[in-house]
Amino acid sequence: MILGVDFDNTIACYDGLFHALALERGLIPADLPTDKTAVRDFLRDAGKEDDWTELQGLGYGPDITRARPFDGVTDTMRWLRDRGVETHVVSHKTKTPYRGEPHDLHAAARRFLDHHGLSPTVVPAERVHLELTKDAKLQRIAALGCTHFIDDLPEFLGEPAFPDGVTRWLFDPANRYRDETRFDRFASWSQIAEALRGTLTT
Ligand SMILES: [Mg+2]
Repeated sequence: MILGVDFDNTIACYDGLFHALALERGLIPADLPTDKTAVRDFLRDAGKEDDWTELQGLGYGPDITRARPFDGVTDTMRWLRDRGVETHVVSHKTKTPYRGEPHDLHAAARRFLDHHGLSPTVVPAERVHLELTKDAKLQRIAALGCTHFIDDLPEFLGEPAFPDGVTRWLFDPANRYRDETRFDRFASWSQIAEALRGTLTT
């Protein structure tokens, strides 16, 4: 097995982070739901699109270490390392935000992985691939020879250019894609760990 894992919303969980950043700046009422979409919609409706842009730059940039790894990610990665399974992080990420302050989003992602004990401790730095485009991400998955890939977006896993022969697993912690039948769907990293154990022992 050569495993590839997406980064944003597959390893890094941003639940609560944008709410906290907005609340600290007095931009939202405390009782607003904590998910990112609720914060975005509230700020847009209030004509505060620029504030939303700035918050995103912070959340994926300097404040990224306040996001957390999904429960079970770190343990699973460590277990894979101990089993000698080659595991890569493969992400599509612009170098700086589309708009606003030019924070270095690649450096931030690596800082997140370091801060939470994922890389270089568990996954060597050279197995963290931050690609500038979706096509480069697809090419990377092919070049690495991934046998399995885990991502939170069905539209990415369903890309016509997705390399042949890769088992694609959909990470869907919010149970958003109930009707998705093309890929095995996992609600948690403990479910993924279970499937990995099954795959590695057969
Ligand atoms: Mg993602």
